[in-house]
Order: sequence, then structure tokens, then C-alpha cells
Amino acid sequence: MNKLTTDEILTKDAHLIQSFANLHALKQADARTAIVAAEGAHVTDSEGNRLIDGIGGLWCVNVGHGRREIIDAITEQLNTLDYYSTFYNFTHPAAAELAEKVASLAPAPLNNVYFANSGSVANDTAVRMLHHYNNLRGKPEKKQILSRMGAYHGSTHMAMALTTPGYSTGWGAVEGLVHHLKAPHKYREAPGMSDAEFLAVLEQDMLDAIHRIGADNICAFFAEPIQGAGGVITAPPGYHAAMRRITREHDIMYVADEVVTAWGRLGHMFASEDVYDCVPDIITTAKGLTSGYQPLSATIISDEIYDVISGPDAMFLHGMTYSGHPAAAAAALANIEILESEGIPARVQTTGKLFEGLLRGLEDMDMVGEVRGSHFMMGIEFVRNKDTREEFPADANVGGLVAKEAQKRGLIARALGNILILSPTLIMDDALIREIAATLRESIAKVS
Ligand code: PLP
Repeated sequence: MNKLTTDEILTKDAHLIQSFANLHALKQADARTAIVAAEGAHVTDSEGNRLIDGIGGLWCVNVGHGRREIIDAITEQLNTLDYYSTFYNFTHPAAAELAEKVASLAPAPLNNVYFANSGSVANDTAVRMLHHYNNLRGKPEKKQILSRMGAYHGSTHMAMALTTPGYSTGWGAVEGLVHHLKAPHKYREAPGMSDAEFLAVLEQDMLDAIHRIGADNICAFFAEPIQGAGGVITAPPGYHAAMRRITREHDIMYVADEVVTAWGRLGHMFASEDVYDCVPDIITTAKGLTSGYQPLSATIISDEIYDVISGPDAMFLHGMTYSGHPAAAAAALANIEILESEGIPARVQTTGKLFEGLLRGLEDMDMVGEVRGSHFMMGIEFVRNKDTREEFPADANVGGLVAKEAQKRGLIARALGNILILSPTLIMDDALIREIAATLRESIAKVS
């Protein structure tokens, strides 16, 4: 048990480089929060404050904190086989069992699983596999990728190139390989249009890009079922199925980035098929796969792709030392067992809808322009003028101000400029869900 005081933690923390942070601003000691313990839907900070974990760690602690079953499974695995790789001809029972389990839960043709340690690398892996696939098919020019404005696909160079421009501008991230289509963001991109009209615009945008670049040069379309870090952007109804149809017609592989949306967060193990009627060629996932107890991701590919990359002369030159690490695989198996035995995805269909409904109720507040998302993946956009949708200046950081008020009141939420993101654990009862909504109302009122 870590017994350091807040001051001791923050002094040592001067050597730690945080992620996605203004590192200069973090030099002020009170800018940082040290979390020292967690249980269920709550965490405890170094001052002893118990806070509701409204962001589920980082959209990932789906089954809640402190689950003995997962901790015991990891310990037992380490006691039996601490490490072995899945390189060359080696395998081990935990990775094999997990691969079979994940394949059995994924949409039918997605039967082949590659493990890595992060969502970023799951997406990099998908790109490498598709480039390899097209080389083997005698189509080496088919390498370009379609992604979308507002996308977040990770922080490696490749995953950043897939991510919306802005994050990687000036960093030279794999330039020229990725083309960003319009974000499916009706509130900002298409005020006044019907869903059907906006969908037609988005379809045409994709067709135009394919025409411009040439289908023979495009290997993949990457899409999150709901754009998460881009501001929790939900597409108009029918969008994913429509994009799926267009990609199939042009021999372009559809990669669904379910790093966040899988493992119960939207009420199903995977969202693509069950929520959006879209069976992709590849699903990438991470986060809720282990509920964050161990770092693990999966790139799940169709038989059609696997059959080519496992052909007689096809050497698969790709691998990370910790791919399918035994402890991570054991954590995932125990986590999936909890999701299944406690019927968590099915429960989310009720509790998540309550959460979504209560948060949508905040739209009656003057400063709340739009509440969007689904189930336990929600975003609140704050605006200066509700009628005109006039935005606050980017540096107003209204989301940050509301998050600060919420934390004072016992709730961790995540600010993204003038948007507030909520992605809590999936195990909350109605009372806790109501408490979050009430805390948000109070916090927003305070900042208004
Ligand atoms: N894809 C999506 C949709 C994500 O939200 C994230 C992380 O938030 C990633 C990929 C990258 O995952 P990781 O941070 O594990 O590399």
C-alpha cells in the first residue's frame, strides 16, 4: 500500500511526464490530482476524498475497480507462467483461450485475433495487416486510408495520422497516407439539415474522396462507432451501414475502432453489428477488454483477410514482445467472465439509458448546447449562445471549469475544451447515476 503524502507524491511526480497535458501548467502543485486507491465505482485521492469515477479510469474500467476475481486470475497466472511470448512457433494457454473467446463474441466472420498492449498499436497493426494483405494480393499501390475529422485512434505515429488533424499537425505523422472525411457531427456541421439530408452529404463526401484518390489506392476506412475523444460525436442513423456498403462496393476494408465502444459500454459486447448493423472487416479494441487491470488490445480480423496473410508464402513480420502477455490475457478472461455472468451489457441497456436520459435533461440549462452520446458514453457541449450555437472561445475551457466544480463535489469528469465527457464504470445503481446527474447540474449552474 502506497503511504506517501500528497506533497511527497507531487515532489516525486516532478519527474513524471504526464499524457495529453500542458506540462508547464502541471508544474503548479495544485494542478495535479493523485489517485491512491479505488473500489467499485469510486476512487480515493491522496487527501482522502472519495470521488465517483465518472470517466471509468479512461473509458476503460467497465466492471468497476477492485474486482477480486480479476486480481486473483492475474496472480494465479503469474504464479504459473509469468511470461512467454507468442513469437515464432510459441503460444500459451491464456492467449489461446482468450483468442477463442474474443473470436466467439465478435461478429461471425471475424475469427482471428492479434493481441497487443494498446488501442494505438491495435490500429497500427490493422494498417500493417492491410498493407501486407494488399501486397500479397498483388495490389501494392492500395495503401491509402480514409479516416474522419474528429477521429481519435491513438498516439503512435500511425494512429496519430489516423486521428483528426490538429493533434498531429506539424509532427510529420506519416504524411500523405491518410485522408480525413467530414465528421458526422450534425450539431456543428449541419444545423438545419434533417438526418437523411446530412447522411446523404456524408455519403457523397466519401464517394468524392474515393473518386479523387482512386479505389485502387485505398485500403481502408477507419471509424469509431461513436467518436469519443473528438467530443462524443454520434453519426446520423444508418451512417455506419451506409459507409459499410460503399466501402464494400469499392474493395475498401472497414475498420471499426471499438477501443471504447466494446465490452458493454453501449449495452453490447461489440457495438458495430448489434447497435449499428455494420459488420466490419476488422475490429480493434482495448480498454474494457481487461477493464484496465492490464494493458491489452486486440485486432480482430475477418477470415477473408486472414486467409491471405496466412497463405503459403506469406511471412507475417510483425510483433511486440508483450503481445498476448499471459497476465493480460488472464485479466481479460476473468473480466469477460464477469461481464457475462453478471449480465453487465444487458443491464447497461437499462442503467445506461437512465444515465443518458438524465444527462440529456441538462439540455434545459442555458449554457448546455447539446448533450450527445449513448448509454455510458456521453458528452456535454457548453455554448455561449444556445440559439445561435455560438461557441465559447477555445481557451475559455468551460469544460475544465465545470470539471473542477464537479471534483469539489465528489465527481471526476473529463474536460475537453468546452465539452465535458462522462464515461463511468458500468456497475452503478440508479442512486449513483442520479447523484452524478445532480452533481453535474449543480456544477454547471455554478459556472454559468
Ligand atoms: N482508439 C480510440 C477510439 C480511443 O479512444 C483510444 C484511446 O482513448 C485509442 C484508440 C488509443 O488507445 P490507447 O490509448 O490504448 O493507445
